[in-house]
Amino acid sequence: MKKVVLTGDRPTGKLHLGHFVGSLKNRVEMQNSGDYEMFVMIADQQALTDNARDPGKIQDNLLEVALDYLSVGLDPDKTTIFVQSAVPALYELTIHYSNLVGLGRLQRNPTVKTEIKQRGFGDSIPVGFLTYPIAQAADITAFDANLVPVGEDQLPVLEQDREIVRSFNSLYGDVLVEPEPVVPEGNAKRLPGIFGADDKMSKSLDNGIYLSDDSETVKQKVMQMYTDPNHIRVEDPGKVEGNVVFIYLDVFAEDQKKVAELKEQYQKGGLGDVAVKKYLIEVLEELLSPIRQRRAQYEQDLEQVRQILTDGNVRANTKADKVLKRVRDAIGINYF
Ligand code: ATP
Ligand code: MG
Repeated sequence: MKKVVLTGDRPTGKLHLGHFVGSLKNRVEMQNSGDYEMFVMIADQQALTDNARDPGKIQDNLLEVALDYLSVGLDPDKTTIFVQSAVPALYELTIHYSNLVGLGRLQRNPTVKTEIKQRGFGDSIPVGFLTYPIAQAADITAFDANLVPVGEDQLPVLEQDREIVRSFNSLYGDVLVEPEPVVPEGNAKRLPGIFGADDKMSKSLDNGIYLSDDSETVKQKVMQMYTDPNHIRVEDPGKVEGNVVFIYLDVFAEDQKKVAELKEQYQKGGLGDVAVKKYLIEVLEELLSPIRQRRAQYEQDLEQVRQILTDGNVRANTKADKVLKRVRDAIGINYF
């Protein structure tokens, strides 16, 4: 039997380079290997957990994320692309699993803690936001997923999902599949935003380069990128650690020999930021232009994109309903 892969993204904005290297690239490679059964979910319900007062934002970005998927090479003939809120079984599974999770465990989840701080909820953390790891366990188990390609920021959530599976199985029998994360190597697992290496690139922090940004926007963003604040004159020695431009070159440049040479020269002194940035712009353009082209084609036919999602929803429901039945039978709420 093929291993099952499930991943998703929140439609809180268009997808960025962090998504590409952190997860999308892995997904496309897995899809094209033909070795996996693939499900990719647009997590609109999860996005509402911290955007309930601005549902228009989620509606507006639903098709944008679908376009991003298609533009990087996810193929609806090989991958089921679907919308979370269109699969009712996910809501019910969330309720069943929520009985197995203690409040303290959720409050201690490092990912959730960081995201709560970033969003500045103060004393009124939405319950749905605090409990999103439970909903994520539902998303993953509903498809019997073995593998979940994610960025590093999501690892503690996935660990909690695995705990939920183990609790369920130890109580009710061997019903759910325990998933494993698939995380890329090196800086790709947590690509920083353009303003500094401390924050990951994130839609919510608005520090990203988007897959749909045009050439001029990419150029402007790279030119603003954080480098070494003490590298003032070209002849000064510069630091490559924490230097966002070099972190991106490590992740995106094919020619790593050239990157090593540039680093050496930069550290010695005699290489200006602008020269390195120009090279990064070239590297990113090479990656982004075919993605932009494919996006432009799908943008011509949004009805087709909608149909792709409608078809994906049907396939997703068929699978999730089977798992839900197994769960209900295992708990014993199958009296009628
Ligand atoms: P938001 O700010 O709304 O949470 P986000 O930019 O964090 O948006 P998500 O939709 O939450 O994006 O993340 C989708 C997937 O992309 C997750 O698997 C996440 O780990 C991965 N990911 C997000 N940002 C990065 C990044 N900077 N580097 C690597 N992977 C990332
Ligand atoms: Mg996120």
